[in-house]
Amino acid sequence: MCHVMPNARMNSSAHSPDIFIIGGGPAGLATAILAAQQGMRVAVADHNRPPIDKTCGEGLMPDTLAAMKTLGVTLGYDEAVPFRGIRFRDADSLTCVEAEFGQGLGLGLRRTVLHAKLVERAAGLGVALLWGSRVTLAGDGQVFCEGRPVQSKWVIGADGESSQARKWGALEQTRYERIRFAARQHFRTAPWSDFVEVYWAQNCQIVVSAVASDEVCVAITSRSPGLRFHEALSQVPALDSRLRNLRGVSKVRGARAALRRLRRVCAGRFALVGDASGSVDPLTGEGLGLGFRQAAALVEAINCYERDGLREKPNDLLRYQAAHDRIGRAPRLMSRLMLMMDAHPHLRQKVLRILAAEPSLFSRLLNLNVGELTLSKFGVGHALRLGWRMLTPDWEL
Ligand SMILES: Cc1cc2nc3c(=O)[nH]c(=O)nc-3n(C[C@H](O)[C@H](O)[C@H](O)COP(=O)(O)OP(=O)(O)OC[C@H]3O[C@@H](n4cnc5c(N)ncnc54)[C@H](O)[C@@H]3O)c2cc1C
Repeated sequence: MCHVMPNARMNSSAHSPDIFIIGGGPAGLATAILAAQQGMRVAVADHNRPPIDKTCGEGLMPDTLAAMKTLGVTLGYDEAVPFRGIRFRDADSLTCVEAEFGQGLGLGLRRTVLHAKLVERAAGLGVALLWGSRVTLAGDGQVFCEGRPVQSKWVIGADGESSQARKWGALEQTRYERIRFAARQHFRTAPWSDFVEVYWAQNCQIVVSAVASDEVCVAITSRSPGLRFHEALSQVPALDSRLRNLRGVSKVRGARAALRRLRRVCAGRFALVGDASGSVDPLTGEGLGLGFRQAAALVEAINCYERDGLREKPNDLLRYQAAHDRIGRAPRLMSRLMLMMDAHPHLRQKVLRILAAEPSLFSRLLNLNVGELTLSKFGVGHALRLGWRMLTPDWEL
């Protein structure tokens, strides 16, 4: 098993920072920004060039926007499209249920716009940004960036869902993992809703978010690796007829989507952040927010370590591990509920009917997901009520 050894001969200042980050996606850049705000010297290497696109539903929940404020990144309503909440629609039964966020609005925006904003902020703080630079690991555990050895106190793996850094840090052991498949395309049309809409179809879910005054993003997630974008759309005739004659303004872009929890996210001076450190199902809409909150917890843990001078402690970032476990709890729980609904059509229809009959329950679930309600405040009573109604025969609902 390879172990990352951050200490090697230095070649240039960008290769000898305090923190070297593998991957300049949202989580890597957020970590860089927060660390630079604390006065640390940071370098980020990414083999792509900005603005980097990625398959995403492109909805930023209110808690994600709050986390972004701490990065010094704000978005105006002219750069993005606000949404009030989430609407679930069952494609078979036409059951529909919606809930608004308790506080604030969400924002939909193109992934490339978000990336450009984060890059601009990181550059403004003096982060060394090494674009077009692939990071690799040698057999002896040395990290290389474009063939040059990297020397830094800390190495952070922020290289996304298919992380190699996870393997390099010997952190790939999972508690659980569910892989699904996703695709995304943009269409030129005026948005028809100020909710993010989630259509529950036979073997997929289709999420529609407005990302500009004349553009919507359509993201499809399914357990089936072979499902094609237009086959999936045809499972929801109402949506299909809206989009069928519209021009796709981007290519269909695919990706893997995972609910994954790792046993450990750090070892010594090496840590994972963002999707590399485990991820939640896309239907929660919490991937970006989680990455931003993990970045904050990681930088705080590094800061504490540096400040308190605990240089001989065997596992330097246990504080980060504990925070990471806590931060992901509600979206992980919600992911499990979403995956259960995906796998069992009868159960899905029942849950949707229960939520339609009792919208306040959906509202509480949504606010639990976005962190406006804690698990303890969600209430045993509500959890039991949901459970009880699940056991109630269909004709009584
Ligand atoms: C279908 C779908 C819909 C989603 N919808 C939403 C949503 O609506 N809202 C939300 O908040 N989240 C959503 N998510 C989740 C969100 O997209 C991810 O959580 C987020 O992109 C994770 O960011 P990251 O920085 O961890 O990883 P990434 O964005 O994957 O960035 C990783 C970076 O690492 C770079 N890299 C990889 N390997 C190397 C290497 N060896 N050397 C150098 N660079 C490397 C890559 O080029 C990439 O830029 C969705 C996900 C999917 C799949």
